Amino acid sequence: MQREAMLRNIRERRDPWDIAVIGGGATGMGVAVDAASRGLDVVLVEAYDFGKGTSSRSTKLVHGGVRYLEQGNVPLVMSALKERGLLRQNAPHLVHDLAFVVPNYSWWEAPFYGIGLKLYDLLAGKYGFGPSKLLSKEETLERLPALEPEELRGGVVYYDGQFDDSRLLIHLAMTAADHGATVVNYCPATGLLRDDEGYVNGLTARDAETGEELSMHARIVVNATGVFTDSIRRMADAEAETLVVTSQGIHLVFDRSFLKGDTALMVPRTSDGRVLFVIPWHGHAVAGTTDTPLDAPSLEPRPLDEEIEFILETAGRYLTRPPTRADVLSVYVGLRPLVKGEGKTSALSRDHVIHVDPSGLLTITGGKWTTYRHMAEDCVDHCITLGRLRDVPCRTRDLRIHGYLYSRAGQSGAEIEDWRSASDALAVYGADAEAIRGLAQSDAALGETLDTDLPYKGAEIVWAAREEMARSVEDALARRTRALFLNAKSAIAMAPAAARLLARELGRGNDWVDAQLAEFKELARQYQV
Ligand SMILES: Cc1cc2nc3c(=O)[nH]c(=O)nc-3n(C[C@H](O)[C@H](O)[C@H](O)COP(=O)(O)OP(=O)(O)OC[C@H]3O[C@@H](n4cnc5c(N)ncnc54)[C@H](O)[C@@H]3O)c2cc1C
Repeated sequence: MQREAMLRNIRERRDPWDIAVIGGGATGMGVAVDAASRGLDVVLVEAYDFGKGTSSRSTKLVHGGVRYLEQGNVPLVMSALKERGLLRQNAPHLVHDLAFVVPNYSWWEAPFYGIGLKLYDLLAGKYGFGPSKLLSKEETLERLPALEPEELRGGVVYYDGQFDDSRLLIHLAMTAADHGATVVNYCPATGLLRDDEGYVNGLTARDAETGEELSMHARIVVNATGVFTDSIRRMADAEAETLVVTSQGIHLVFDRSFLKGDTALMVPRTSDGRVLFVIPWHGHAVAGTTDTPLDAPSLEPRPLDEEIEFILETAGRYLTRPPTRADVLSVYVGLRPLVKGEGKTSALSRDHVIHVDPSGLLTITGGKWTTYRHMAEDCVDHCITLGRLRDVPCRTRDLRIHGYLYSRAGQSGAEIEDWRSASDALAVYGADAEAIRGLAQSDAALGETLDTDLPYKGAEIVWAAREEMARSVEDALARRTRALFLNAKSAIAMAPAAARLLARELGRGNDWVDAQLAEFKELARQYQV
């Protein structure tokens, strides 16, 4: 996946593309994978880095959504549970099952949650990850040794999926490229092109690195820009009504000792009527999330003090060692694109929506990471009809995602976690791990970890620049590795070494290194509390 080669494809293209996608998050990249694997010609432009938006900032769950079951949205839960199964099947190197315990402190909770989670199992059908079960107090504490034991009666264990969101996104970009798609980061769409009758038939974009103006004609243009959806729609129609509203969710990351063991904690009803997870992830504990309506989206949303306090307070009620602000290693914030409706944002539609404007611009938004494949299938089916494209059936149900490693399929979450943390920090690269290991062995400096608090090595930075289109220190430390999301201080410590390695790979000088370091430090400060 080479950025210069991608740009060349765009410059040299004479015929219209079948589909041009705006937005390189889960939704847009899913569309690129689906279209390319059907043999359609697809180009995708992303304004910043792939996954810079919401798609790197999720709770990292591949799930049906226990909460939506409570809201009675059975079709949404069933469809997501099926997608959960397909994703584990197609990306076993990135998705594994994880045990969750709902602790019971009142007499009525065991039957109540026990029955609800049996329904969750039932709806998964053949895509089930393992049966839920009632636990005694001792069994609950065995699974969650860090849980507050006082007045604990027992618990319910159930299974869902877990993943690394931006790693999956990069592997989706590579899958799209493997099937012939052209995908470019740092290339914002700046306008829409129109035919003689006023229908959208392409877009203009700018290479943010050089300022070069690019134009792409396409039979259909897909707007997959998440919380920025309406700004693209207003390029076609300045009067377009608001389709998407924004809600913010934050996560706090702690040392793993706050959640001993390999089981996640699920708090089924917080004081604001939501759920809260504390989950093991890459050797740390991630707690979240919140649901705070916002007036306007931004690229680097900030956590509110009350959101931080809410998570500390809620998690603290369930853990023997309540975390404090001083224990927060990183805080990250994501913005939900919710399809507009009335009332509180947590009750707005979590289903995806396909919307066609009178200009012919097709917008896809809403949904969740877990359902990206299904959303893409639906979107490309619409593109085929609207754009009068070759009618090729969807191929992604069994399509292996870049890095696929069969030997990992079928292992339990705990086995994979052990193997990840103990033996191989490169496991998430799947089949690419071998080449990265080779890089690390070829040069002693690349085999060294960049900071003692995290397992990342120089070889991963070089790989990110050579093969994964990383263009900046932030790309390498936030989305190719997850350093910034796991431990902001450690990410700052590794930035100078990462910048030097990137400069060598990308042919940049000392000024670039200095500017990158200043920019990254400024950004990383926002991930500290
Ligand atoms: C706090 C939180 C937790 C979540 N947890 C989960 C979870 O555990 N599991 C799950 O399944 N789902 C989860 N979700 C939902 C999931 O993360 C989102 O549904 C999904 O990431 C949305 O992807 P997207 O591609 O639509 O948007 P984004 O990832 O935001 O992508 C849109 C992209 O468009 C780009 N863009 C904007 N303007 C332009 C332009 N002019 N030109 C080119 N590109 C442009 C942006 O830079 C951005 O990268 C969570 C969401 C939030 C907020």
